[in-house]
Amino acid sequence: MLDSVHMFMKKTGQYLGLPADTIERLKAIDNEHLFKIHLNSGKSFAAYRIQHNNQLGPYKGGIRFHKSVNLDEMRALATLMSLKTAAAGLPLGGAKGGVTLDPQTLDEAELEELSRKYIAHLYPHIGPAKDVLAPDVNTNAKFMGWMMDEYEKLTGDDGQAGFTGKSVEQGGSLGRDAATGRGGVIALEDLLALEKTDDRAITLAIQGFGNVGSYFGVIAEELRPKWHLVAASDSEAAVYSAAGLSAKQLQNFKQERGRFKAYAQTNVAVISNDNLISLDVDVLVLAGLENAVTTANMKQVKARYIVEMGNGPVASEAYDYLTKAGKVILPDIIANAGGVIVSYLEWLQNKQGEHWTEDKVNRHLAKLIKQAVKNMYSSARADKLSLKQAAFAMAIQRLIEEAPGLKS
Ligand code: GLU
Repeated sequence: MLDSVHMFMKKTGQYLGLPADTIERLKAIDNEHLFKIHLNSGKSFAAYRIQHNNQLGPYKGGIRFHKSVNLDEMRALATLMSLKTAAAGLPLGGAKGGVTLDPQTLDEAELEELSRKYIAHLYPHIGPAKDVLAPDVNTNAKFMGWMMDEYEKLTGDDGQAGFTGKSVEQGGSLGRDAATGRGGVIALEDLLALEKTDDRAITLAIQGFGNVGSYFGVIAEELRPKWHLVAASDSEAAVYSAAGLSAKQLQNFKQERGRFKAYAQTNVAVISNDNLISLDVDVLVLAGLENAVTTANMKQVKARYIVEMGNGPVASEAYDYLTKAGKVILPDIIANAGGVIVSYLEWLQNKQGEHWTEDKVNRHLAKLIKQAVKNMYSSARADKLSLKQAAFAMAIQRLIEEAPGLKS
């Protein structure tokens, strides 16, 4: 995955006429924390915190607990975070963390022990002005609460602004849970408006109906009555209904730990994940892990629009093929930036001792996402670039202009 991110960076650098060593400096990772977490039960796991770049502000990024977490992925995701915060205009850098495990194999007490031990190792290197942690795949406000509490015990600092995506009771921001999905809906609305396709009814399929994917569906349902959700998947199977699905109902089903392979409703079919990717819909939303579309399945994609709500869901070779085939791909560093944007707003509220209304948070989120989409789209049009290249160019230009350490 890191190769794929580096390839996009290299191509963008060439397009911008940057010296090769500037891109090399931009690729360089500041700090890599690689360690093992040993649980009292004897189980042990590989853990990571990769701090890519802090030229624009403290490192920022989520922590995922997943069996596919590895060093290459962590480096790639940390690099993408630096590009994402830069493209969104935030005063933050980029980092990523994770632990390699299937969280289903641990009980609640073990997950808490794991989260606390993760911080017990890292606490000298993180905090509100150094590195601000957030949830990612398989982590949420509960994990942030354990981590924040451990940080406070070890440092004596209440550390609220060192963690985002917290529960509202623990200083979290209203609107943070839905923020990534909401940002994606706004970005897609704006893209369709720019492409002048916003006025008609469109069909959507959402691959990966976790936190991000389900909120994308729910917010779309609220804001865009003409968008019809016809399919959604989890890691095992997908549900499909030509007549349309209720995102809210599906979200409730998933929150109660339901599995789509066992979804039983009249007029809803259970189909395979491969079938979802190849559905004849207008918009395919990829809200799962990286590499959901690769050379193996890219030819099956029929949707004209692809929204990268996960990080790196379209592999680079598939990206080239699909864009040449006339597909429009709304890139991850813009499409899913809503999460880190509201994390930034949470960090600000914590630092200033404020609590904003949900409406105020959503207004700021919309403003920042709209600006990013507008800039990306006009640069793509003016310079005949794909949207991802334009987004990368925006991010790299900002990093070079504002980060003295990256100038040649
Ligand atoms: N994990 C999310 C992402 O990949 C959010 C990161 C954050 O809020 O720091 O963008």
